[in-house]
Amino acid sequence: MDLGFLLHALIPSWNSVAVLVVFFAYLAIAGSMLPGKLVPGVTLQDGSRLHYRCNGLLALLLLVGLFGVGSKMNLLSPTVISDRGLELLSTTFMFSFLTMVVLYATGCRSQSKGSSLKPHITGNLMHDWWYGIQLNPQFMGIDLKFFFVRAGMMGWLLINLSVLAKNVEDGSLSQSMILYQLFCVLYILDYFVHEEYMTSTWDIIAERVGFMLVFGDLVWIPFTFSIQGWWLLNNKVVLTLAAAIANCFVFLIGYLVFRGANKQKHIFKQNPKALIWGKPPKVIGGKLLASGYWGIARHSNYLGDLLLALSFSLPCGISSPVPYFYPIYLFILLIWRERRDEARCTEKYKDIWAEYCSFVPWRIFPYLY
Ligand code: NDP
Repeated sequence: MDLGFLLHALIPSWNSVAVLVVFFAYLAIAGSMLPGKLVPGVTLQDGSRLHYRCNGLLALLLLVGLFGVGSKMNLLSPTVISDRGLELLSTTFMFSFLTMVVLYATGCRSQSKGSSLKPHITGNLMHDWWYGIQLNPQFMGIDLKFFFVRAGMMGWLLINLSVLAKNVEDGSLSQSMILYQLFCVLYILDYFVHEEYMTSTWDIIAERVGFMLVFGDLVWIPFTFSIQGWWLLNNKVVLTLAAAIANCFVFLIGYLVFRGANKQKHIFKQNPKALIWGKPPKVIGGKLLASGYWGIARHSNYLGDLLLALSFSLPCGISSPVPYFYPIYLFILLIWRERRDEARCTEKYKDIWAEYCSFVPWRIFPYLY
């Protein structure tokens, strides 16, 4: 691809703005109106709690249904996204940038003393803009953090479906594309089936809404997690049966560890006496779970996620490093995140955390790290 073509493809068009506006409008309306369990978030420092309407699965199924029906009735092309991937990427990037400018300006003016909206201004413009200054900014009653992460995950699926439609249209649907699509759709569906577990994750409870989070959710997740799909559009891979079966196993094991670990922590937080793997849990200092996956490594959930990420890339074979962008990036991110979480937990739990670390010495990879 020559540079001139690339730059031209990156220029946003009104069509890409329209796609984005329709998508965000749908998410705002569906998120506010569709029924869903109202889940209380963690208690914030000021004692308040946000409540999250977990209707993401219904919103996603309806969105995919509308996308399918719209395509069938020729109201839109199923390749509407894959035909303008680069311009959608630049449009979303600009949107994230502008959103962050607005959030930064409104955040700086906030007089709120509550945990959600109190501005945290260090005076370092870059730092504040990157990490954000408010924990839970809202727009028209919509919690933006929850909204953005949802948009990222749903956007990823929409991109994948449009790439799949393009592959079918080209008449070159391959086993690799089917495997990649299947793993991603299961992962994304599972995410929304368990959406309430997200309410206790680091992003939701601890991260402020800065460019890192807005860009990460809106641009990074949908556009880089789908690189494998884009790559398979232009590259043919022939997988042996053994390779395909091994790939399914990596996905399955990754899924069991990822979901199992996140579920055990969530259940433990709700009921510290709940059985873990059929036995009473080992609890340190009355607060930290040290059995099940959390007795094997202090972040087994990251290990599961890394295996899943690898399984999304393995269908692309090993001829190019490009489809391995996501697992490599995730590896770096989770190592960094684990360090940040470790620092947070050391400060929060003090001696109890030290005791947990000596009981469970491995951070992510048992016997390795
Ligand atoms: P965790 O869900 O692991 O949350 C960490 C928090 O859990 C800690 O700060 C602490 O908070 C609590 N905790 C830690 N250890 C224990 C324990 N033994 N017992 C009880 N509570 C404990 O981390 P994340 O929010 O970072 O990740 C959630 C999921 O999201 C992971 O599976 C991760 O892989 C995935 N993820 C995926 C990304 C992607 O790009 N694909 C990016 C980031 C995350 P507390 O104060 O509540 O006790």
